[in-house]
Amino acid sequence: YTHSSSDLIKKESKHNAQNYQPIPVVIKKGKGSYVWDVEDRKYLDFLAGYATLNLGHAHPEILEVLKEQAGILSHTSRAFFNNILPEFVEYITNYFNYDRVLPMNTGVEGGETAVKIARRWGYRVKKIPSNKAVVVFVRNNFWGRTLSAVSSSTNPTAYEDFGPYMPGFTLIPYDDTAALQEALSNPNVCAFMMEPIQGEAGVIVPKDGYLKEVRRLCDEHNVLWIADEIQTGLGRTGRLLAVDHEEVRPDILIIGKGLAGGFVPMSAVLANDNVMNVITPGSHGSTFGGNPLATRLAITTLRLLKEGAIDNAAVMGEKFRRELRNNLPKDVIPIVRGRGMMNAICVNPDYGTPWDLCLELKDQGLLSKPCDGNAMRFTPPINMNEIELQEGLEMIYKAVKEF
Ligand code: PLP
Repeated sequence: YTHSSSDLIKKESKHNAQNYQPIPVVIKKGKGSYVWDVEDRKYLDFLAGYATLNLGHAHPEILEVLKEQAGILSHTSRAFFNNILPEFVEYITNYFNYDRVLPMNTGVEGGETAVKIARRWGYRVKKIPSNKAVVVFVRNNFWGRTLSAVSSSTNPTAYEDFGPYMPGFTLIPYDDTAALQEALSNPNVCAFMMEPIQGEAGVIVPKDGYLKEVRRLCDEHNVLWIADEIQTGLGRTGRLLAVDHEEVRPDILIIGKGLAGGFVPMSAVLANDNVMNVITPGSHGSTFGGNPLATRLAITTLRLLKEGAIDNAAVMGEKFRRELRNNLPKDVIPIVRGRGMMNAICVNPDYGTPWDLCLELKDQGLLSKPCDGNAMRFTPPINMNEIELQEGLEMIYKAVKEF
């Protein structure tokens, strides 16, 4: 290597906007569940690009498709048809059982798309008076960084001094069906948008039955249920979607993160005709959305996910939480929570912060990043094997002992 970690960190700090506070490790290579820094130290990746690399780094089969398709056709725009997009839209709508899909790039664009669809459905189908549509969100939601997303945020770090904020948004507590019922009694509500498990908020798993009740209440009030499965989807929680745990289906499903194998950004919004058909030519779009490279990677990724990774996430996740509960001192780590390979531990502030723990984990050889709620999250590749998981567990035990 030509530059040390500290040189590279200094260079980035000098020239990059300071919108992140990274863990001080400079990664140069990734393979499967591991990454290497510029000094050739090896780490287990228990963040996986914020729950994006569900099948690990540089998955060989997806990589081959990437190389092949990049050399044939990577981008056309939607000004023309291309020969991959039709295959993708057929594949993904069958895969998730919706009539239509709208491909975008980042997660937050998926959220924006869902809210636009819901508002237009509100006016054109539900007949809400012009410009009166309301979208209900939950407190501590996280769906990205655009002005709409921060307008629904309850985190001052995310929204402060970015006003004026988007009108027509209201907030209720998460996992509170009485509050939802009350909010939905407003006839101008077009949609309820939420994460089936809150990610950035600290991996908050709602009570059993919450999702079923959300479905029932939205039906009762003729309100669209938008499930933001950008973090929970694609096998992360041990089922294909987190809503599958309660056998319910949202009206609008948003997926993103690792949809294109983590190689390029890609998100998608799925809905049935009665909802998606409010979108007409010119009303929405994106230069890169639906490009042949991302869509071909997505077909491959979705196919590979069903070859054991999702069941693996359920089994490994169960073991991960059980071992952590059995082996971590309860006074230091009072809470272990999550589902599948989407997990978090809460740190007793008397012993330190999740950030301190994170630095100790890095020294032990495991990478992750704190989330809200005094929590450290662990979202490794969902196809991680038992040996790697055990290696990670030992590092966590040691770090908790020493931080
Ligand atoms: N929705 C959820 C649940 C997320 O966890 C995230 C990102 O962490 C987003 C939306 C935003 O995705 P992106 O950063 O790709 O815009």
